[in-house]
Amino acid sequence: MISNDMIKLGKKRSIIRDIFEYGKIRTKEIGAENVFDFSIGNPSIPAPDCVKQAILNLIEKEDSVLIHSYTSAQGDLNVRKTIADFINNKFTTNLCADNIYMTVGAAASLTISLKALAVPEDEFIIFTPFFPEYRVFIESVGGKVVVVPSNDGDFQIDIRKFSQAITPKTKAVIINSPNNPSGVIMSEESIKSLCKVLKEKSEEYGHPIYLISDEPYRELVYDDIEVPYLTKYYENTLVCYSFSKSLSLPGERIGYIVVSNEMEESKDVYAAVCGAARSMGYVCAPSLFQRVIAECIGKTSDISIYKKNRDLLYDGLTKLGFQCVRPDGAFYLFVKSMEPDATAFCEKAKKYELLLVPADDFGCPGYVRISYCVKPEQIINAMPAFEKLSKEYK
Ligand code: PLP
Repeated sequence: MISNDMIKLGKKRSIIRDIFEYGKIRTKEIGAENVFDFSIGNPSIPAPDCVKQAILNLIEKEDSVLIHSYTSAQGDLNVRKTIADFINNKFTTNLCADNIYMTVGAAASLTISLKALAVPEDEFIIFTPFFPEYRVFIESVGGKVVVVPSNDGDFQIDIRKFSQAITPKTKAVIINSPNNPSGVIMSEESIKSLCKVLKEKSEEYGHPIYLISDEPYRELVYDDIEVPYLTKYYENTLVCYSFSKSLSLPGERIGYIVVSNEMEESKDVYAAVCGAARSMGYVCAPSLFQRVIAECIGKTSDISIYKKNRDLLYDGLTKLGFQCVRPDGAFYLFVKSMEPDATAFCEKAKKYELLLVPADDFGCPGYVRISYCVKPEQIINAMPAFEKLSKEYK
């Protein structure tokens, strides 16, 4: 007998993957230039040159055995120190290497953090719209998912609803800013209100409610908008970071967790992170890429192309009458479906070879996600197809 839950999970592909796979079939049938695939969040711009240089230097100059060998379970000490120093300089924090745990990307940062915190019957709060994998990650550590709807329109936190959703069983809250799928950046005002509630409720229930900040899109921000660093606002914070998007390295699987040094029992939480990673076999993130990202810390891919795409798509679609949430970051546009059933809307879009993702699994029925990490020409060439689609509803 094997796990039915895992069979179910393994057999059910995410809707994003389903549409992405459909796109590959259509590409074979009619050619890539005729398919407007806006389904997946794979960075479309190359890693910056420093990544290639770091790989070449490390391979040529470092000891050829050491470079591929195991590091400490939590990651190479110098790499963790480089990351801690970088964050300290940038955000005036006071972290050390032992507040950092190297991971295979944000997904592992999240699963490790959840596993470290969860005890049976714990509740974890997430806000709409949310990354669909949160559900899988929370349930896989035995947690209960509690979904709190955000304000319709601007998708900032509805503080009243949030406050009402907290119970004595609430263990943690996950936030994601810049957000996948809305591109919204949580305002400082929202964050302050959220942290105030967390402090009050932690006091009321006599135990900390943790804040997990999932931030793979931290650097993908347009128009000089600041993304507040959460440990500065709330001490019981874990930051789940990855270089998948900022350095266009999603396939290399590299990221880290920050356990704030100001957290209650910070050393025990860090030990629990080490234990959780160990129990899941997530020790020693890829050794070469730990060192590569340490060489490239603070650098990003050329995100000006995403801003160009954002403007092309947002301006183009609003002109055609689509109702879009203006994204300040990440590389997604969140658009109101032109009919109540977003899946039916996306099916109609397929007639014009437009591959869009219905947002039901993101907790927002009636919306669709458009990933604009594509070549700008794809957006320009897709506009007539969007126009035809919109005309179906006039
Ligand atoms: N969190 C969010 C909000 C994401 O959008 C993604 C990936 O798209 C992840 C986590 C997982 O990131 P990674 O590929 O670094 O594991």
